Amino acid sequence: MNRTTDITALVRPNIMKLKPYSSARDEFDQSEREMVFLDANENPFENGVNRYPDPQQRSLKTELASIKGTESSHILLGNGSDEVLDLIFRVFCEPGKDNIISLPPTYGMYSVLAATNDIENREVLLTGDFQPDVNKILNAVDEQTKIVFLCSPNNPTGNSFSEEAVTALLNGFKGMVVIDEAYIDFSENESWLNRLEDYPNLIVTQTLSKAYGVAGIRIGVCYASSLVIELLNKIKPPYNVNKLSQERALKRLLNREEVEKEVQLILGEKQKLYKALENVSFVRELFRSDANFILARVDDATRRYDQLIAAGVVVRNRTSQPLCENTLRFTVGTSEENERLLEALKKLEQ
Ligand SMILES: *Cc1c(COP(=O)(O)O)cnc(C)c1O
Repeated sequence: MNRTTDITALVRPNIMKLKPYSSARDEFDQSEREMVFLDANENPFENGVNRYPDPQQRSLKTELASIKGTESSHILLGNGSDEVLDLIFRVFCEPGKDNIISLPPTYGMYSVLAATNDIENREVLLTGDFQPDVNKILNAVDEQTKIVFLCSPNNPTGNSFSEEAVTALLNGFKGMVVIDEAYIDFSENESWLNRLEDYPNLIVTQTLSKAYGVAGIRIGVCYASSLVIELLNKIKPPYNVNKLSQERALKRLLNREEVEKEVQLILGEKQKLYKALENVSFVRELFRSDANFILARVDDATRRYDQLIAAGVVVRNRTSQPLCENTLRFTVGTSEENERLLEALKKLEQ
């Protein structure tokens, strides 16, 4: 793929033409000198949040770039990955005209965002072992197909997509390939963000909501070529990540030992949970997971789900998803929380 020409040809013409909103503070580095800020009609009295936040989240990106081995110019941050995914839709997909491909059973937001943006979502089921069906995907592509969404590790199945399938799509599909890596920090697999140089049509999204443990502050991350990042930046609301979130996220990133410790605890708990679930009589099948949850097939998911609710344990019933009949998705909690789940399951067996 030719880097610049082929990617810009995928972009909506109105976005190519658009001149982004520019605030005075986009134009210089705020930390450079002692300045008097009379440009943004803020209240001048200091209370910690009286000023607008850094629209480019520079400190946060610098730290994230160093952790992930990339550069700030390859990063865009959003109000959760849901905002990041929406920006990707709006850069590439013309409402009422273009289409995307998603691979059920998978994360529900791709179809919600497609519908919101009036974009047709062509669904191509995963194979029986929850891998992308590369030939069927490529057969579903037409001139208006702008994006294929891959979720790896996949939610709700938990498995990662094979390198072979992902590479075949990156090479064989002439549109953008978005790999949603919300759970990558729980996985032993290498992130696809290390392959950005090889594939100009690759976009990787991650989040601080899962392994990094700060779902409440809403930080989603997009890694892509600097060309794609510039396009996303054009339409991003200028102050989409608020100051408190930026500060809190930076604090969390600077405490990597804590994050790493928690991830290891969760992975250890996951193994314990697998072992315990094997001995639950109505569990029929357990799926291998590279994430912080386990998908389990049971005898009657809706009945078990209701019984668990009555016992005070909320899990996710995935039975209505294709290939997921009678499955429940269990998030790995603390040791105490998992004990409560197991106790509740044991009582149901009696
Ligand atoms: C949880 C999750 C996200 C995270 O979304 P945020 O908006 O960043 O909290 C993204 N993708 C998948 C597949 C998820 O499961």
